[in-house]
Amino acid sequence: MAKLRILHMYPDMLDLYGDSGNMEIISYRCKKRGIDVSIDKYSLGQGSSTDFTSYDLIYLGGGADFEQQLLADDLLSCRDNIMEAYKKGTFILMICGGYQLMGQYYKDSNGKKIPGLGLFDYYTVASTDKSKRCIGNIVIETEIGGEKYKVIGFENHGGMTENVASPFGTVLFGNGNSFGSKSEGYFEKNVIATYLHGPLLSKNPKVSDYIISYCLSRGGNIRPLEPLNDTLEEKCREVMLERLALLGSVKSE
Ligand code: GLN
Repeated sequence: MAKLRILHMYPDMLDLYGDSGNMEIISYRCKKRGIDVSIDKYSLGQGSSTDFTSYDLIYLGGGADFEQQLLADDLLSCRDNIMEAYKKGTFILMICGGYQLMGQYYKDSNGKKIPGLGLFDYYTVASTDKSKRCIGNIVIETEIGGEKYKVIGFENHGGMTENVASPFGTVLFGNGNSFGSKSEGYFEKNVIATYLHGPLLSKNPKVSDYIISYCLSRGGNIRPLEPLNDTLEEKCREVMLERLALLGSVKSE
């Protein structure tokens, strides 16, 4: 039986707006297809006993500035191991606070600079005016698995991310990487970093399936997955896209 090994980092500290649901969705969609899933939870201080390269997927959810500060040193102590896993093709999925911590740094609304892992060139700075946050529904358009796809979510961040080499998508509704930005998140073959909570994967089954098929093939020929009955998910997507006057092409997706 195919198996997917997941490392969920700091589930007790990085879990805003149902972000842990992303792991439930991956498990659900794998189990429906007879794919075995194991999810190990990583907490502060477990770096020396964790072999990051043994995982197909490393996941970090979103978190408030306070939690980001608390875990930054611990995350830095895992830098080389996470870097090695990323280079060997482990998929890395990061939401909001997790996204920010994998870049160069995050300067929070108090002006405190939290060093990032530096896996990528982007950096994030929050306004010192704490009332200035990007909050609300967001829809972006991305190209995933060779097809255009509208990704739906909810954003709530003070941090503005700049210097993003390859965004996850183009913003159709909402803000994205910064106020009024045209781009959202960061994307590579084995990386999705995004501001979209929701949780992301419950609202966007094609993103889940892209991650699952990537993980099963570890960067080789992407393995087609048995289709699931997503009628309910598609109805929910239609409602949200209609509400935001973006329904246009959803039926042909
Ligand atoms: N604390 C970060 C910010 O406000 C991340 C918030 C989040 O993960 N939603 O930008």
